[in-house]
Amino acid sequence: MQQLQNYINGALVAPQSNQYIDNYEPATGKVYSLIPDSGEEDVNAAVAAAEAAFPSWSMTPIGERSKILMRIAALIEENLERLALAESIDNGKPVWLAKMVDIPRAASNFHFYATAIHHYATGAHAMTNQAINYTLRDAIGVVGCISPWNLPLYLFSWKIAPALAAGNCVVAKPSEVTPMTAYLLSELCIEAGLPKGVLNIVHGLGHSAGNAIVAHDNVKAISFTGGTQTGAHIAKIAAPKFKKLSLELGGKNPNIIFADCDYDKMLTTTMRSSFANQGQICLCGSRIFVERPIYERFKRDFVARVKQLNVGDPNKKDSKMGAVVSKAHQEKVLSYIQLAKEEGGVVLAGGEALEIEGRCKGGYFIAPTVIEGLEYNCRTNQEEIFGPVVTIMPFDTEEEVLKYANSVQYGLASTLWTTNVSRATKMAQQIHAGIVWVNCWLLRDLRTPFGGVKASGVGREGGFHALDFFTEPKNVCIEY
Ligand code: NDP
Repeated sequence: MQQLQNYINGALVAPQSNQYIDNYEPATGKVYSLIPDSGEEDVNAAVAAAEAAFPSWSMTPIGERSKILMRIAALIEENLERLALAESIDNGKPVWLAKMVDIPRAASNFHFYATAIHHYATGAHAMTNQAINYTLRDAIGVVGCISPWNLPLYLFSWKIAPALAAGNCVVAKPSEVTPMTAYLLSELCIEAGLPKGVLNIVHGLGHSAGNAIVAHDNVKAISFTGGTQTGAHIAKIAAPKFKKLSLELGGKNPNIIFADCDYDKMLTTTMRSSFANQGQICLCGSRIFVERPIYERFKRDFVARVKQLNVGDPNKKDSKMGAVVSKAHQEKVLSYIQLAKEEGGVVLAGGEALEIEGRCKGGYFIAPTVIEGLEYNCRTNQEEIFGPVVTIMPFDTEEEVLKYANSVQYGLASTLWTTNVSRATKMAQQIHAGIVWVNCWLLRDLRTPFGGVKASGVGREGGFHALDFFTEPKNVCIEY
């Protein structure tokens, strides 16, 4: 069985404890590889390697850093098939989805920051006849990047690429549930000639390896994507040490549909925004609010389509949905469906685990689920489920639906379906969310700020925002 290794100081190495964790394939429920169960000692070695590499990497000309990041991007593209398969085996998502979205996007992240760093500029401010100020933006030093399991390589590279482009050295930890693409990335970094110690990847559990990265005194900034509770825990450790923090956390996003929308486009996109990646995208629209005049029509058409959605072996091209990421997560999602029933919800489609015959017997599959009849403020409509479960409910006025939409602790993303531009403009301003999609979903321009408000996090990723995060501004004032 394949045994993954940490990537420390440019080499693939075993964890110092020599302990490993089982890595399950969600589609079959079987262990298929072993992951280093790293601890503080491995993190210390990774931080020491990063510190040693920092003076040279941070002083390497931008053009050189950029070339190496471009090589990593090119290698990701060349290894598309292999990486997509690995991501699917680790995560349970269909291979076609990993091939179409996750892996190309990981390559884009490296491309984007390899080029963005060339255009990243700082300002100068003249004080008339007195002085000139100019601002430097220096790399921070050693930074920690911790990412979740839902979009493994895509979110891992979304942090690592800007951190490296800006001249930092990185100690990173992927989710232990989906470590394989991060491991393959370490092989590609060696092939690309990334100098030793610049990127270090430590595998292991959140409460041990993750915690050690956050707590390490010489890790000066933490970029974290994951659950809100974990984010709060990390903030508690990092705040007294005055570390820079970027937290991208959970979501419970509203999908608001008005009667004047482009109905066919809305219906097709709502299928994606509800069930793409088995509903395990922080940006999925899990609460669907439909204006009353089209509520019954929407309910009939949506439920009919959901019942047709093919759930199956992630290797098959016609599987629209694969398995959810783990047994524990399957149980969590099913417990929320049970809660919805107890809260008075009526299951219109799905509502149960699915047994797939053949290779995938024993895999963690859930039927795409639609629930109606719940109050906007019940637990099912307030807590993040993070699976293929959506609720639908009618509304009558803009004020009413805004109240529903903004009632949750989260504020990550939202979607509005309407052809009334005035309404869209007004509501986009009133919705508590970091992202408002109007008549679309998941359309991303990498230059735009990405992140949420309220319990969905602090800080913004994307574009120059990430480069701002991974650098410290220093003002130099020269009197004439
Ligand atoms: P978790 O918060 O459980 O874990 C995220 C990462 O943090 C993992 O690598 C995890 O390791 C690690 N971790 C866990 N505990 C600690 C700790 N004490 N110290 C340091 N690191 C720790 O999230 P999930 O992996 O379950 O991901 C799902 C969540 O991520 C959802 O809430 C989702 O909404 C959110 N998310 C947010 C996004 C955004 O952009 N806002 C995008 C994608 C997902 P381990 O796996 O070993 O526990």
